[in-house]
Amino acid sequence: MASITLKNIVKKYDDGFPAVNDVSIDIADGEFVILVGPSGCGKSTLLRMIVGLEDITSGDLLIDGKRVNEKAPRDRNLAMVFQNYALYPHLTVFENIAFPLRLNKGKLTEERVKELVLGAAKTLELTDHLERKPGNLSGGQRQRVAMGRAIVRQADAFLFDEPLSNLDAKLRGQMRAEISQMQRRLGTTSVYVTHDQTEAMTLGDRVAVLKKGILQQIASPRELYEQPVNLFVAGFIGSPSMNFLPATLDGTVLKTPIGDIPVPEEKAAVARGKDVVLLGVRPEFFEDASLVEEHKLQHGAKFTAELTHTEWLGNEQYGYIDFEPSPEVRELLQGLARDMDAEELRPQVVVTLDAASRIRGGHPAELWLDTRRLHIFDPSSGDNLT
Ligand code: ATP
Repeated sequence: MASITLKNIVKKYDDGFPAVNDVSIDIADGEFVILVGPSGCGKSTLLRMIVGLEDITSGDLLIDGKRVNEKAPRDRNLAMVFQNYALYPHLTVFENIAFPLRLNKGKLTEERVKELVLGAAKTLELTDHLERKPGNLSGGQRQRVAMGRAIVRQADAFLFDEPLSNLDAKLRGQMRAEISQMQRRLGTTSVYVTHDQTEAMTLGDRVAVLKKGILQQIASPRELYEQPVNLFVAGFIGSPSMNFLPATLDGTVLKTPIGDIPVPEEKAAVARGKDVVLLGVRPEFFEDASLVEEHKLQHGAKFTAELTHTEWLGNEQYGYIDFEPSPEVRELLQGLARDMDAEELRPQVVVTLDAASRIRGGHPAELWLDTRRLHIFDPSSGDNLT
């Protein structure tokens, strides 16, 4: 096992544009770090530089404290698990797992190869499938064979490049759990690339969020959710996404397009003196006011809004509030969309409601908002001020 240190890593392809721009991350021995971000943010490039498939333009890559920038991939002792598993269809599961060991021909006895393959197969619960060919395995089993290959090599770290993106949603969920358990059991340092925020949040000890080659924040999933450093991270993490509402402060009341929201003084204080701020409200901060317990009411604000429609999901409901943006607000939302790498931000607020709520679209409804959890962002820098 090994620690992996990235120090001011830059990657410029031929066009000169930095695909990875001054990224520094310390990955501890045994840690599971996720690299996440939208398409083109540089996460695969970063992973490929770690494994040695891509040259590093500048900066230092250290494995266990030793600089390895110029080391060939085979000398780094890292194992890559790819999206398409890269299994050989004509070889049995046994031979697929043994493959990297056979590349070391002569170094290992047949007995040792067998011992290592059987050990990995046992860990991965593949012992009964060793004579099968990949074509006769489920997607999840194929995924495990691919991991088996990484395990037998006794690599210092596993590098995963979107390994689950070809699987259907149900299998993806199962495999996510398997990878997570496996990584904890083996304790092998792992770096995992995905564009899926759910995968990032459920798998990682820490999650690094990238945008346009720049590291935005690296933190535990909980911290990313609760204390996103800027608009981009706030919008990227969480599902449904955080709502952003332009707001102006009047005393301790934030005036927003969906109503006036009284906020605690410590929230008001960060907005004071600014012409306009962006209020960040997760859908789950809202509730049907009639369902909020008495003792909780004091920690939030009630306001009336008309939902256009609601969607019932069984365990909860989504409600939608559309608002008519002023020209200034429209401009602000467009700028925000550019910053978030989104096509557009609709003048709409999504709220989650308890499954028991009887609020329906088309009628004014009383909502409650937990104002302790609100985020307030500076619209020009995007920084979270709260
Ligand atoms: P995706 O999720 O779509 O795979 P990513 O976050 O992994 O995206 P990268 O593949 O690392 O992003 O690409 C980062 C940037 O570098 C992109 O703008 C991409 O177009 C560019 N890029 C990637 N590979 C090359 C290459 N071989 N030559 C030139 N530019 C490249």
